[in-house]
Amino acid sequence: MRNNINIISSDIINKIAAGEVIERPSSIVKELIENSIDAGSTEIHISIDKGGIESIIVKDNGCGIESEQIDLAFTKHATSKISKISDLDAISTLGFRGEALTSIAHVSHTSICTASNDNQAYETTIKEGQIGKIKIAARPRGTTIIVKKLFDNFPARKKFIKTPESEQIAITRVMKNFFLSYPEIAFTYSNRNKKIYQLSKNTLIGRILDIFGSNYKSPLIRVSNERKGYSVDGYIGNLDLIKKRTGEQFLFVNNRHVDSKMINHTIYRSYSSLIQRGEYPFFVLNINLSPSLYDINVHPSKKEIRFKEEWRVNQFIKDTIKKALSNSLDVIPSYTFTSNEKKVDLSENLNLPEKQLSYIDTDSLLKSNAINEQIDDILNEGNKAEFEIDSIWQIENKYLITKLNDGIVIIDQHVAHERILYDAAIKGLQNMDVESQTALFPKSLHLPNDDYQILIELLPYINKIGFKLREFGENTVIIEGVPTYMKNDDEISIINDIISGYETYGKEDLEIQDKIAANYSCKAAVKAGDAL
Ligand code: ADP
Ligand code: MG
Repeated sequence: MRNNINIISSDIINKIAAGEVIERPSSIVKELIENSIDAGSTEIHISIDKGGIESIIVKDNGCGIESEQIDLAFTKHATSKISKISDLDAISTLGFRGEALTSIAHVSHTSICTASNDNQAYETTIKEGQIGKIKIAARPRGTTIIVKKLFDNFPARKKFIKTPESEQIAITRVMKNFFLSYPEIAFTYSNRNKKIYQLSKNTLIGRILDIFGSNYKSPLIRVSNERKGYSVDGYIGNLDLIKKRTGEQFLFVNNRHVDSKMINHTIYRSYSSLIQRGEYPFFVLNINLSPSLYDINVHPSKKEIRFKEEWRVNQFIKDTIKKALSNSLDVIPSYTFTSNEKKVDLSENLNLPEKQLSYIDTDSLLKSNAINEQIDDILNEGNKAEFEIDSIWQIENKYLITKLNDGIVIIDQHVAHERILYDAAIKGLQNMDVESQTALFPKSLHLPNDDYQILIELLPYINKIGFKLREFGENTVIIEGVPTYMKNDDEISIINDIISGYETYGKEDLEIQDKIAANYSCKAAVKAGDAL
């Protein structure tokens, strides 16, 4: 890695999802371990006392920090990981914001002992944000960070810390994610000198068994697939590893742990009839793709991810899991794969060439109506007479910017369109008139039996939003119309998403109309990245 820490320029700072990340001991642990991994460590030791409230010590054998750069490491927006704006589109390290060490030192007494080679080490302590004298010390190459007196001068924040036991549970959860995404790194994790985990370098399956026990061996199914720049590797569990609650789902993107409800649902759905609502399969999956195909700079915690080609990731994951499950038929004798596989049958029923079927032009509609409407709304809130719209620019295929007399408006195109669709859907559900556009070439949608039952239950609602769906024999409906303002022209996947959303949220939800409207509008709206 580049080992030269610099303060990043203000134009990059403005592009970084900034903000305080230090909420509790586990956020400190996460940031420190990320730094150790970014430093190329092959061994990381962590020990905590009283759930990290008393102390957190992270020791690594990574590249260390040069003595004259130690104070920079504790300076806000100083990082060795990015230096220019374009680096933000190709982040290959876990950190990049240059804020963690500063924020940690701000709320604690933080000591560092670091050596960038085996011969010379340096140490110092930062108290109340003030860096102490840098002294010569002794240790082999690597870095040790000790965090004590957490939130001592921040009583309000200290109140939010839970019991040592629950803080330790949170830290263990964070550590498990690292254990599973970096099996090639050796870890020890202890609490007050009692070892909780001692893990040597291993293969992924070896690491899974180290953590969950050898009885996980036979229920694991290997997953490995590659398609158009995307690859996925890891293990999923068969039915023996199904649990009634979550906690054994580990999803990584380029080895970074991410929270993606969307992909989790896709994985659950791929098990289709094998699992029921409220049951969760085991998985440890790492998706590899170019950093340019997603955005991790969404939230300071770097856990939220936005994929540029959401549908492609979903389809890829779904196909991969289904295939892995079907290949292990011998492990799951009850599973019949063929009944669910062919969900969408475009041409056979209607005898039309596929090319015509997949095309509905909603772009021009959108351009002329929806976005203008949104701008009108904004203008209506002010005094209309004072405003005059010049022209509208689209920036980075994400934002619309327009000039007003005394300023500019910036609109997130996805959020704006989602809002319009949501309002229209709610109107429709409340029995008001909603515009629907008759499809020139109706599509037919064939569903597995359980999904079809849900669809029939939802049919009145879906039609009120502006779809025109008609029952058409054996588990099949015909889509004769779609809501006028919809942009995403993949009605079939939108309907599938409404069904799966319903499946996951459950029937007991009183605000089902709201859920459907929200689900539909999110899926059907223009996405960031769509040119208008
Ligand atoms: P970021 O990780 O976003 O760059 P941090 O505040 O976490 O910001 O760290 C600041 C800098 O300090 C890093 O860019 C890195 O150069 C250096 N650093 C932090 N921790 C370590 C470590 N354990 N080993 C080597 N260098 C480190
Ligand atoms: Mg960092």
